[in-house]
Amino acid sequence: MEDARRFVSSFDRPNLYLDVRPGQQRMQQILRFLKGKETQSGIIYCLSRKSTQNVAAKLVAKGYKAQAYHAGIEAEERSQIQDDFINDRTPIIVATIAFGMGIDKSNVRWVIHYNMPKNIEGYYQEIGRGGRDGLPAHGLMFYSFADVIMLRKFAEGTQTETFQLAKLERMQQFAEALSCRRKALLNYFGEHVTQDCGNCDICKTPPNFIDGTLIAQKVCSAVARLQEQEAMGMVLDVLRGSQNAQVVDKGYQTLKTFGAAKDIPWKDLQQYVIQLLNQGVLEIWFHENGRLVLTPLAKQILFKGKKVRLADLIQPVETTTKKTKKKSTRKDLFEKLRTLRTKLATEAGVPAYVIFSDASLEDMEQKLPRTVSEFAEISGVGRAKLEKYADVFLQVIAKHQDALESNLATHERSMELFEKGFSVAEISEKRGISENTVYGHFLKMQELGHKIDVLQFITSEEISAIQKAKQELENPEGLKTYFEYFEEKVPYWKLKFGLLLG
Ligand SMILES: [Zn+2]
Repeated sequence: MEDARRFVSSFDRPNLYLDVRPGQQRMQQILRFLKGKETQSGIIYCLSRKSTQNVAAKLVAKGYKAQAYHAGIEAEERSQIQDDFINDRTPIIVATIAFGMGIDKSNVRWVIHYNMPKNIEGYYQEIGRGGRDGLPAHGLMFYSFADVIMLRKFAEGTQTETFQLAKLERMQQFAEALSCRRKALLNYFGEHVTQDCGNCDICKTPPNFIDGTLIAQKVCSAVARLQEQEAMGMVLDVLRGSQNAQVVDKGYQTLKTFGAAKDIPWKDLQQYVIQLLNQGVLEIWFHENGRLVLTPLAKQILFKGKKVRLADLIQPVETTTKKTKKKSTRKDLFEKLRTLRTKLATEAGVPAYVIFSDASLEDMEQKLPRTVSEFAEISGVGRAKLEKYADVFLQVIAKHQDALESNLATHERSMELFEKGFSVAEISEKRGISENTVYGHFLKMQELGHKIDVLQFITSEEISAIQKAKQELENPEGLKTYFEYFEEKVPYWKLKFGLLLG
């Protein structure tokens, strides 16, 4: 504790912005983060030598001056890299944790943790390399559940396993904290702070809370009905009513909670379960295949009506475009992944779920991994599966994405803008097409099965009028007859909607 206190006094700087983000598409997030920071000094910490090289190479490819730094590099070259960093010749260093010891560079403007560090002490020390000059600096940490799994594997079997795992758990709680980060940090080191700092991601955008009691009850009930024998993936599959082979083999489709949370997307449900873990409602027994186990708190929720608060899941703004694209094409990527899975399963003579569960495919479809390291973060991807399948699955995903990006049809583009919140008039102006055409695009999307609330464009009175016209005109061919019937006062697109909706 003495050590920790000393840390605080040397680090407690309000100029350091603390930021933790979900580790999806980290590289894209980093590139966005670095826009406009080309000449600023910064450090990216990675867990492996290999990822330092990958990340540095990607940054260089994008025109940034970056160097990888790890213990595998010759001492002489390492000191050259350090020297270039200290003297601002190379602004960005992508390093394993070894980097930074004994370097006192005051103008490090940002520190990124590509993976969640293994303990708070390490995190604290590393972000402390930013902003020593007292000017604003940014500490950005990526966090994913896959990081936790990986770090657990590192700790397991070591002499200090229990200790390391406990530290890791604290780190994870910090990453998932829903209250001021600095308060959590300082409290961890025994400095009792009651005021929110105002300079961390949580203070800037506090989460909304929802009454999560019903969700928690469903989750706990599923865990109970699975006799506390299944890991998170299976619990999610059961709650989502997934009919995959593994579920069916075990007869779980007959459980009372099967499909109880099918209205919640897989990813969101997973997040809620993690929150429940953090609130001490559930536990993971890592030594027993990661099975989920109920705690006494879970029993209070199930039987004593104890209320649960869950943080509402806020989607990062940046992914709006991607999400919209995904919405219209989700199904077909999933189908492509399934087809590949079937092919591999047939070749290997094993059931499909042995290759990947539906949950894994769904996760791929959501995260759209581009690289092997991104693929490693997909739920259900261990080392063996990574080696065997990453390449083929990545190929399918890349091909799909490329086709999508180059072939986004004109009606899809209009829809995309509309879903981003642009009005029809704005889309018409932005795209240089008439409003009539924009409505035509919506109509086309509607015909293609894309769900649009068309009643925002046409009233039910208008629909009945058009339907009435249809009867009076005795089902005429072509819209022109209708157009004339309404004395050219109802635009073509509205006539089409009216006919379609009648
Ligand atoms: Zn704060």
